[in-house]
Amino acid sequence: MNQLKTVPQHAPMQQFSVRHNSLVIGGMELPRLVSRVGKTPFYVYDRQVIIDRITELRQNMPSGLKIHYALKANPMPAVVQLMAGLVDGFDVASAGEMKVSLDTPMSAQHISITGPGKSFADLRLAIAAGVTINVESFNELETIAQLSAQIGITAAVAIRINPSFELKNSGMKMGGGAKPFGIDEEQLPAVLRRVHALPLDFQGFHIYSGSQNLKAEAIIDAQQQSIALALRLAQFCPKGIKKLNIGGGYGIPYFVGEAHLNIQQIGDALALEMEKLKAAQPDTEVIIELGRYLVGEAGIYVCQVLDKKISRGQVYLVVNGGLHHHLAASGNFGQVIRKNYPVAIGNKMYAEQQEVVNVVGCLCTPLDIIADKILLPVAEVGDLVVVYQSGAYGLTASPTAFLSQPSAEEVLV
Ligand SMILES: *Cc1c(COP(=O)(O)O)cnc(C)c1O
Repeated sequence: MNQLKTVPQHAPMQQFSVRHNSLVIGGMELPRLVSRVGKTPFYVYDRQVIIDRITELRQNMPSGLKIHYALKANPMPAVVQLMAGLVDGFDVASAGEMKVSLDTPMSAQHISITGPGKSFADLRLAIAAGVTINVESFNELETIAQLSAQIGITAAVAIRINPSFELKNSGMKMGGGAKPFGIDEEQLPAVLRRVHALPLDFQGFHIYSGSQNLKAEAIIDAQQQSIALALRLAQFCPKGIKKLNIGGGYGIPYFVGEAHLNIQQIGDALALEMEKLKAAQPDTEVIIELGRYLVGEAGIYVCQVLDKKISRGQVYLVVNGGLHHHLAASGNFGQVIRKNYPVAIGNKMYAEQQEVVNVVGCLCTPLDIIADKILLPVAEVGDLVVVYQSGAYGLTASPTAFLSQPSAEEVLV
């Protein structure tokens, strides 16, 4: 007998419903949404999907935990305004993101700025605004103290630690070993002595060890180690630790074979760790900082088939978008081996006839691939190609000037 081969699949995309064979976003069937936006390609983010996501996260996380949004994932001002009412704080990684975050009702004391190579101008803005600066080096610490004295405002600082551990199985490692991020754990006693000798408002620690992780055990392990590290460092903090940002790294499934993260398991384990911390440091506020987990699944990229052709037996759908709008889906944003994002024909969700196609962008480069040898309903010129999991690291993580094509629209519905 033939063994039934199970073909690995993308995780089911159930965040949007389907009506009249079309994907529904923000209550609107996709063809109507295209008319409402006025052109393709565009990104659309669904506010209800974001709201539901954060509600579900809070239900699974310990009650005292603070949830911050990292603007790097999606800094669209309308999205950030929405987030201001849903999360407890923002983390920004540039003066531009800081400006967007300060335009919202979020109080500056719940905003932090992180990242290597902050300029004097960036630091001055942060000090004046009252934003907490996550300090990345000894030099930066001295600069902040000098600027703080010049401006006459005591800067709020936290030390970003490059821990000795790493977040295992991460899409991007940002801690452990030699890194440009943060100050090595071993140097912390020295840096804390200096912090306390300077007229600065010491807030606590920021430990960010990695990103895009789908293994609950690995995240739990990193969270345990982060809290244990803070407890060890408490002896060097005579005034206590006000804030402990333990990072995040919660991933979303992009590729065939990947599954949604078990958030309940992570929340249960974190509750136990927070109890331990509370026993020793009752006043410490614990923060997680997430980007893609909050917004990634709420967004899609929509483009339109311009041409359909056959080359030596393979079908090509040529769309009016491409890697200049969506570098990550093309496989050129930190992937080692190119894999397909989940893709659909948004106006032909269910079709009796399917075929294997290559979806390519309109840029004259072989790198411009949206989906490679993927089984989709048979599509024609004018049909709408949808790329799921595009609410984070989409337009602002793409080389929009490449090949001088028009940019993509962004809408929040
Ligand atoms: C990139 C980054 C984040 C967000 O990462 P996600 O994978 O989108 O959750 C959060 N904090 C810092 C310091 C980062 O560099």
